[in-house]
Amino acid sequence: MMTGIAMTSGAVVMSFTASEWMSPLNVTAVAIGAFAGWIITPDLDVQGRTYEEKRFYNWHPLIGFLWQAYWYVYAKFMKHRGVSHWPFVGTLTRWGYMFIPLVMMAVGLNLMPSLNWEWVGMTFLVWAAQDIVHGTLDVLYSSIKRTF
Ligand SMILES: [Zn+2]
Repeated sequence: MMTGIAMTSGAVVMSFTASEWMSPLNVTAVAIGAFAGWIITPDLDVQGRTYEEKRFYNWHPLIGFLWQAYWYVYAKFMKHRGVSHWPFVGTLTRWGYMFIPLVMMAVGLNLMPSLNWEWVGMTFLVWAAQDIVHGTLDVLYSSIKRTF
């Protein structure tokens, strides 16, 4: 299933980069959105070690532990396949959970760069597209599992 998500995301990236509005700013937005969607998935709502979290443990056990610990509260309060899997809303919950502390730190340290909201929006849409594919595959996979 994860391979399917990665392939779909790759197709999304390819279609974006193939269009005439390709610019370094747009390409970085798509790349970061695709990367965020790849590592910050709706399944972070699962308590315990998920497939995605295992990737971090494979990179380094400490990185895996810290990543899982960071998402502990999110997993604790999000019902599996609930709001976290809703199109756009679920992505927004992870976006907020991931970036609001970073933005608050940046503001507190007076390091806040001027944000290009078009860039932020594009990053979010690519990330959300990947999450929608994830949610769709979850539904399809569940219905296939129920059928057979
Ligand atoms: Zn899922």
